[in-house]
This record gives sequence, C-alpha cells and structure tokens, in this order.
Amino acid sequence: KPLKVDELTVLLAKRGKVLRKNGHVTPDLVPVDELVAAIEAEELEPWYQPKIDIASKRVVGVEALVRWPSKEKGMVFPDAFIPVAEENGLIDALTFLVIKKAADMQAHWQKQGLSLKIAINVSMDSLYDLTFPERVVSYLEKHRVDPTGFQLEVTESRLMDDLVGPLDILLRLRLKRFSLSIDDFGTGHSNLTQLRDLPFDEIKLDRSFVQGAAEDERAKSLLESSVDIAKKLDMEIVSEGVETLEDWQRVEMLGCDQVQGYFVSRPLPGDDIPAWVEGWPK
Ligand code: C2E
Ligand code: CA
Ligand code: CA
Ligand code: CA
Repeated sequence: KPLKVDELTVLLAKRGKVLRKNGHVTPDLVPVDELVAAIEAEELEPWYQPKIDIASKRVVGVEALVRWPSKEKGMVFPDAFIPVAEENGLIDALTFLVIKKAADMQAHWQKQGLSLKIAINVSMDSLYDLTFPERVVSYLEKHRVDPTGFQLEVTESRLMDDLVGPLDILLRLRLKRFSLSIDDFGTGHSNLTQLRDLPFDEIKLDRSFVQGAAEDERAKSLLESSVDIAKKLDMEIVSEGVETLEDWQRVEMLGCDQVQGYFVSRPLPGDDIPAWVEGWPK
C-alpha cells in the first residue's frame, strides 16, 4: 500500500531530508564551508531560461537560475544551497556573483547581435539592506551595463510578511530603472490595495496554479483573480511552469502576456542561448 505523507515525512526527516509544502523532497543541503569555497572560486553559474511574449511569439528575455557544477558532486541545484546562503550571510555574495556573470554574458550576447533582458532572483534579505540598490548600480556602471537590461524578481510570500521594510528599497531600485517582478504569485495572498502601493511592473504566476488550473477549480479561480488584479494595475503577467501546449493555451486564454517553462525550453547554459534563440520557434 502507498505510504501516507506523514509516514513519509518521518522517514525522510530521519534521513535528514525535509518535505516541502508542495510534496517535493528537497535535496541534502550543501555544507557552509563548501558553499563559501564555491562562491570564492566563482564556481556558481547562472543558467538561462527563455521568456516568450505570447502575442508576438518573440523571446523577450531570460531568467538567470543559478547552479553549481561541482567537480565532486556533479550539478547541484539551487534548492540545495540558496537556503544555506540565506542562513549564513552568503546570499549577498551569491547575488553579486550571479549579477556579475549575467552582465558578462549579456555583453557577450550583445556582441552576437542579441539583446536580452535578464531577470535576477533577489532574496528578501537584500531588501532590508539600504546599501543594496547603490551597490548594484555602481557595480553595473563600472562595467558599463544599463540597469534597464535587468529585472529583479522577489517572491511574493516573503514580501507579504512585511511590506513596510522593503518598500523603500524597492522604490530606490525602481528609481534606478530596474524593472521589478513578483515571483511565485498566488502563494502570498496579496491584495489589490497592497499591490497598488508597490512599484512592481510584472507578476509571475506560480507554476502550482498554472499547472493545477487544469483540474483544480480553486487553482483556476486563483489564476483568474490574479490575472484580474494584474490587469487592473497594468502589470505584465508571466506564467511560469508552462510544460505543455494545453498549459500555454489555457494561460493565453486567461489573458497572460508571457510564458516560461519546459514547453518552451529548460534553463540553458549562456553559451547555448544565441543558437537556441536563432532556432525559435522550431
Ligand atoms: P523560481 O524563481 O520560481 O524558478 C523557477 C524554477 O522552476 C527553476 O528551478 C526552474 O528550473 C524550474 N522550472 C522552469 N520551468 C519549469 C517547468 O515547466 N516545470 C517545472 N516543474 N519546473 C520548471 P531551479 O532552477 O531549480 O530554481 C529553484 C529556485 O531557486 C528558484 O525558483 C528560485 O527561487 C531559487 N533561485 C534560483 N537561482 C537563484 C539565484 O540566483 N538567487 C536566488 N536568491 N534564488 C535563486
Ligand atoms: Ca524566479
Ligand atoms: Ca517563480
Ligand atoms: Ca515557483
């Protein structure tokens, strides 16, 4: 007989693993000293997942998703080290390493005639650091990179825990002309009034709703009301986790502007992006 979830939780907890809300098992966490060494040696690498504008079918940008290609462990995914970085004061260094490599990659693509906006995942921890906006901008200026080529993604759930603290920093980033996106939208239960006061220009619908909407009425109505809110506030709406043609058609019908997901492409190494864009749509 199949294991019930609580038995499974106990079983995994004994092995030092944790079960996430959505039922996915997180991998063993990377030890802090190994992460420190990997960041110092600049071994972490962003991979890039294309974002497609539904109306024009054009590639409008990419999301940078960090990986650690470790010589001993093979490819290590962010779930195994982002929490470690956040808990040990390493997330700022990690973010800057990703921004640095992404800025270099963008310049490299530009030389091949390819201009792509890059979305960077920013931890909420950075939104309590008043020096963060200045430091990002001066870093980019030093490397002659324009902030309008970057988008910053912040997850909704943690943002809604405290809106007052981060607001000042979000406004500063917006003034520096970064575009701002709310990630995993639908998981944080924000309302129209809260969103109106925040300087975001895009929401990314969480993939659990995008995928759940096929069978689940609650996910579907949540998706509909999210789109409704975003439209009222004149924000771009992106669907993440679009895995099938049916997913694409459903979110298109709901009024989404952009899609991202395995149906279009998995995240790719930066060097593979120009050829991929060249071949899109297949
Ligand atoms: P996220 O920002 O919500 O990113 C989307 C995740 O879904 C990525 O996992 C991506 O590879 C995966 N994905 C994309 N399309 C599909 C699809 O069609 N189906 C399914 N099932 N999955 C899809 P990944 O790369 O493992 O990243 C996991 C999370 O780690 C990210 O979730 C983000 O919260 C965090 N993360 C990744 N890179 C960074 C970073 O540079 N900095 C910070 N602070 N967090 C990062
Ligand atoms: Ca993201
Ligand atoms: Ca997301
Ligand atoms: Ca997500």
